[in-house]
Amino acid sequence: MKKIAILGSTGSIGTQTLEIVREQGDLAVTAMAAGSNIDLLEQQIREFRPNLVSVWDEERAKELRVRTADLKVQIASGMDGLLAVATEPESEILVTAIVGMLGIRPTIAAIEAGKTIALANKETLVTAGHLIMPLAKEKNVMILPVDSEHSAIFQSLAGAACNRIHKILLTASGGPFRGKRKSELAGVQVEDALKHPNWAMGRKITIDSSTLVNKGLEVMEAKWLFGVELDQIEVVVHPQSVIHSAVEYEDGAVIAQLGTPDMRLPIQYALYYPQRRPLSGERLDLFSLGQLTFERPDTETFPGLALAYEAMRRGGNIPTVYNAANERAVALFLERKIRYPQITEIIASCMERASFIGDPALDEILETEASVYREIADRWQ
Ligand code: NDP
Repeated sequence: MKKIAILGSTGSIGTQTLEIVREQGDLAVTAMAAGSNIDLLEQQIREFRPNLVSVWDEERAKELRVRTADLKVQIASGMDGLLAVATEPESEILVTAIVGMLGIRPTIAAIEAGKTIALANKETLVTAGHLIMPLAKEKNVMILPVDSEHSAIFQSLAGAACNRIHKILLTASGGPFRGKRKSELAGVQVEDALKHPNWAMGRKITIDSSTLVNKGLEVMEAKWLFGVELDQIEVVVHPQSVIHSAVEYEDGAVIAQLGTPDMRLPIQYALYYPQRRPLSGERLDLFSLGQLTFERPDTETFPGLALAYEAMRRGGNIPTVYNAANERAVALFLERKIRYPQITEIIASCMERASFIGDPALDEILETEASVYREIADRWQ
């Protein structure tokens, strides 16, 4: 039995991870954490019997303790709870499937405890990649990408350690507003932005996909994971989401990973790496697909992507400003407090006004996040 812990077990990635645990039969879940959905957590505890569970809110944790009093599970809460789940002694792998910068401290704690990281929580690398990647190297810990594009790149690099990457081709579906002009996006409603053409995901990442901020975050994630320069990462809009990304080598050979859009594949690949296991579900049928198409991204209509390149070029704490401004702006958009185009306007404005800190320590990253949140509260709430 391979033992795993999951941060964000009730979310889109978390529940698909548990589907794999259910289907494969030789994985055990020793710890899991969620925000507040204790109804689903209770069901998950009864089915998967973890030793330790954490709920963010202490009141909800108390209620869950009462509900699970007949079981041996320990229920924790808050950041201490997340850290305890991340470092639960029996687990070998931590699946980081919570949303946002909240994942930084638990990810660092898990690496320090020697856990393999199956990383979905891209915001962690975007903001603290300069701390996490060297720490993982020092502790000899593997960071296995769960994001489908990064998993595809990772799979395309298999067996090629001695070769240099010439270019990474990072594919993007283009989201629900591909082909639209800027003026057409002014009146976009929450419901429109939540309709992703190919993938069913959590709410925040679905909005990020529609603005191309998700692709921007992925460019930064790829830079950290694969140690390439920014101008070696090219975003290619590929509306069918069949080529999940590719690597071009120095001789011009392009190696890609293709498949149906199904997040269980990259999750399962990370959990069993380097082994491949059977997986239920639809298979790629090239004949019924007919054709695959490609376009350049429209960075005028979707400035979120260009801003990500700018943030990464400026470096230091600016990717944190980009990410924190986006996290808050998306939350405000979902609460219908700002209009859709304001998401990227807020990111641009916060980046423009930010005080630069080069090579920020963890507390400076968290302070940058807090100051961006304060600024947004003052100016837009
Ligand atoms: P969801 O919104 O579906 O799930 C988020 C999870 O985090 C839930 O389990 C939620 O619990 C939990 N959570 C929220 N707040 C807290 C908190 N304060 N403490 C502990 N847990 C908390 O997100 P996704 O699964 O879509 O995304 C997770 C991460 O994976 C993101 O970083 C995303 O960018 C990345 N990713 C997702 C992909 C996808 O297909 N969904 C693809 C690639 C990457 P609760 O349910 O109780 O609120």
